[in-house]
Amino acid sequence: MASPRILIIGGGAGGLELATRLGKQLGRKNRAQITLIDRNSTHIWKPLLHEVATGTLDVDIDQVTYRAHASSHYFEFQLGSLIGLDRESREVILAPLTDEAGEEVLSERRIGYDYLVLAIGSISNHFNTPGIQENCIFLDSPEQAKRFHRRLLEAYIKLNSPKHPKENLNIAIVGAGATGVELSAELHHAARELNQYGFTEMRRDRLKITVVEAGPRILPALPERIAAAAHKELTKLGVDVRVATKVTSANENGLMLGDEELPADLMVWAAGIKAPDFLKDLAGLENNRLNQLLVLPTLQTTRDSQIYVIGDCAGCPLPDNKWVPPRAQSAHQMADHVAKNLIAALEGKPQSSYLYRDHGSLISLSRFGTVGSLMGNLVGGAMMIEGRIARMAYISLYRMHQVALHGWFRTIMISVIGRINKIIRPRLKLH
Ligand SMILES: Cc1cc2nc3c(=O)[nH]c(=O)nc-3n(C[C@H](O)[C@H](O)[C@H](O)COP(=O)(O)OP(=O)(O)OC[C@H]3O[C@@H](n4cnc5c(N)ncnc54)[C@H](O)[C@@H]3O)c2cc1C
Repeated sequence: MASPRILIIGGGAGGLELATRLGKQLGRKNRAQITLIDRNSTHIWKPLLHEVATGTLDVDIDQVTYRAHASSHYFEFQLGSLIGLDRESREVILAPLTDEAGEEVLSERRIGYDYLVLAIGSISNHFNTPGIQENCIFLDSPEQAKRFHRRLLEAYIKLNSPKHPKENLNIAIVGAGATGVELSAELHHAARELNQYGFTEMRRDRLKITVVEAGPRILPALPERIAAAAHKELTKLGVDVRVATKVTSANENGLMLGDEELPADLMVWAAGIKAPDFLKDLAGLENNRLNQLLVLPTLQTTRDSQIYVIGDCAGCPLPDNKWVPPRAQSAHQMADHVAKNLIAALEGKPQSSYLYRDHGSLISLSRFGTVGSLMGNLVGGAMMIEGRIARMAYISLYRMHQVALHGWFRTIMISVIGRINKIIRPRLKLH
């Protein structure tokens, strides 16, 4: 009898960990055929995208190549972009694959499954604010982060020249959640480094960063004390933080804040997320208002028990009527849980319920500090950590993801190589 087919769509924080684990536990012994599909050929952990955007992280060094990873972890990888689902025939529909010139390499395809896991993440939610789509950069994918980096370098080249001796570089970031706050601190760090690498005319005081937040304070999802500490650090760096300020539109010159115009050369929208729009009409599955697919506590969709959803695209209710937050730690926990439930399903055992555990939140202010809370559920988010301990905890989040993918030994080797690279390579990606 052919082994059951488990198909995972999306190889991000959740999907790649799941494929790796199922490959080791089921694929290796031919107990199931595991296939991962992603629209990209390589994986980079999404919480690092603001570092890609500023050049402090070189995506070419830190990315994982799916095909190579799959071949050593007992699963198959296919490049493709999900566009539809046929629940009756149990097949997913993938968009035609085209090359750089737009020529079709593969036509539209269907791939069958016995169990399907959707892990395609989220995209920025601009709430149909006029001009945002056309004028702002989003940090949803490595390509977008790289685009921001290119534009940042181009602006530095221009403003460093004697033709523009006094012009400032105005960067506006919409949304003071983790992404907006971390990006603004990282940009200050990058500015210091760029100065060291020959951009001597483009002094740091010519970089003007404004963070605009509609809510009454920054980091709305985090405890007030952490937000206050982060706000203080940003102000020390010279970031103009504007709370209770709504962006009403954007144009090529900047943002409109009601009647006031905020001039900006580069604009980043990081104010909220939603699941991709096509999930709204995906084969009759149920959604919430963020397009996330509704799941039962077992993480199976409410209307089809053969389909599981994990990570940012899952609408998983919490007992207090809120939703499991779209975070890397949620994706990690859900991947872990679905692996257990899939193995149970194959063994004819009952499905168990997922319980979200808030292990706290950490905000990296680049080299200027890290603040956060640990064990949110256990101590009500009250245990605030700062400085070295917070930095170590922040780095360990990524290390845990690497351990889930590569195991302890290889993760230690990767971090040693990372340290060596810090000595022998430029501290910033400069091209
Ligand atoms: C700049 C930034 C900083 C962040 N910092 C933190 C942090 O400090 N802590 C934290 O907990 N969270 C943080 N997050 C949030 C965190 O990154 C996400 O919650 C997490 O990555 C969600 O994991 P996921 O597996 O659901 O989706 P993702 O990691 O986004 O992966 C989705 C995958 O699906 C693929 N995909 C998408 N659409 C398709 C399609 N149609 N067909 C095939 N493949 C598809 C994508 O290529 C991607 O590989 C941050 C996010 C950003 C952008």
